[in-house]
Amino acid sequence: MTTDADVIVAGAGPAGSIAAYTLARQGISVLILEKTQFPRYKVCGAGLTHKILAEIPFDVSPVFETSVHNIVFSSGFKEVFKRTSAEPMLYCTMRDKFDHFLLRKAIEAGAKILYDVKVTGVKQDQEMAVVETPGRSYCSRLVIGADGASSAVARSADLRKHIMPGLAWEAEVTADPAIVKAYSQTVFLDWGAFPGGYGWVFPKKDHFSIGVGGPASLTKGMMNYYDGLVAYLADGPWLSGSGTAATNAASGGRNRAYSIRVFETLSMKAWPIPVRVEKSLFHNARVMVAGDAGGLTDPLTGEGIYYAVRSGKLAAEASLKFLGSAAPSLASYSEAVNDELMTELLEANRIKYLFNAVPLKIHRLVRDNDRVWRAFGKVLRGERWYADVRKGFGKWKMLWRLTCLISKWVSDYREKRFASRIKHQAEPSQ
Ligand SMILES: Cc1cc2nc3c(=O)[nH]c(=O)nc-3n(C[C@H](O)[C@H](O)[C@H](O)COP(=O)(O)OP(=O)(O)OC[C@H]3O[C@@H](n4cnc5c(N)ncnc54)[C@H](O)[C@@H]3O)c2cc1C
Repeated sequence: MTTDADVIVAGAGPAGSIAAYTLARQGISVLILEKTQFPRYKVCGAGLTHKILAEIPFDVSPVFETSVHNIVFSSGFKEVFKRTSAEPMLYCTMRDKFDHFLLRKAIEAGAKILYDVKVTGVKQDQEMAVVETPGRSYCSRLVIGADGASSAVARSADLRKHIMPGLAWEAEVTADPAIVKAYSQTVFLDWGAFPGGYGWVFPKKDHFSIGVGGPASLTKGMMNYYDGLVAYLADGPWLSGSGTAATNAASGGRNRAYSIRVFETLSMKAWPIPVRVEKSLFHNARVMVAGDAGGLTDPLTGEGIYYAVRSGKLAAEASLKFLGSAAPSLASYSEAVNDELMTELLEANRIKYLFNAVPLKIHRLVRDNDRVWRAFGKVLRGERWYADVRKGFGKWKMLWRLTCLISKWVSDYREKRFASRIKHQAEPSQ
């Protein structure tokens, strides 16, 4: 039986496009099936850290909108401070532009794409995989499921185990152009307001992306939190675009000329953030899942583009070995994802529990301790990894394990208590 391509990639987000680019550059025939038309809007802060840029094999600076040098931290909109870095900490883009840029590179490298084709499932036998869509079926030797958080490929290949649902709300928000310019190098990050929850403002060329996220179990409280964030930006103790922590503290942190008042709220959307919480299989015979389809997002920050790009590359490498008969199966893909990415994500999960247990202490540590602040920057740049925190304990590894266990217990308790509080608030009194 003839095939439509050696490899079919479902979804043209960062995971799919980087996988397709890597394979097409090696002369493999690749067909991408994408359910939308490109460019397409994707709800996302679209903060690109240095470790993402180091993984992408070409320059993506043409789609940068802003570069971030300042982070204004607050804890439940209180105890505001600003930290600054001479080097950009991250770059912000818009996902319609960024994803289209990556996809064009894959097409230039030789990948083929069909738009408006929604994958509904995959079947496979000894010889090949069959990708099902409402119109017709497509055959290939391998399939990479890069079809995002609600992946049809992962579902039909039984690869959706151990995924904890997170949820985020985000909108594109316009404001006074002078204010947008004043904050063009500044991210606002509010954390510690409720367990596992955080809010952010990312600066874009002509607007802000404002969002909140957290565990799906706390969804009910999320819109109130978003409203609180918007009120804080309009009236709270924010820091001016140019002020330092010291000068702002001297003025009580208030300078109403710099408040962010929302003009228009566009494209408010909720989107799942899938978080894999145990090492497990990322392949099943001829099928692999990458990026959000595999639940590869950072439970602490929600960062997913790095994991999408990296797993897309790993899936392409495993495909090349299999197609070139250098490996009898795709097992090396699951091994690589577990060893490299899951080890890091599980460590991030432990640090998240620690943060949830003592949020204000960590907030103040980032404010007061330069070593902690520098470590924060190094993790963003990919110079240090979460796993280094455990290694830093050296022979006191057991102490770290014990701290993590206690933190998880406290974090789970606080999350349940908060969920029950917002449930009672939402229920009308008898
Ligand atoms: C509000 C929010 C803010 C975020 N902010 C950041 C951030 O600042 N930095 C960061 O690194 N990460 C961020 N993330 C996470 C990031 O958006 C994802 O982790 C990332 O997009 C994953 O890339 P992907 O290629 O796996 O999937 P996606 O980007 O979701 O791409 C999947 C593609 O598959 C297509 N598709 C879906 N279903 C089908 C189907 N059945 N058939 C065919 N095609 C299909 C979709 O149309 C899409 O083009 C954020 C997430 C949210 C929700």
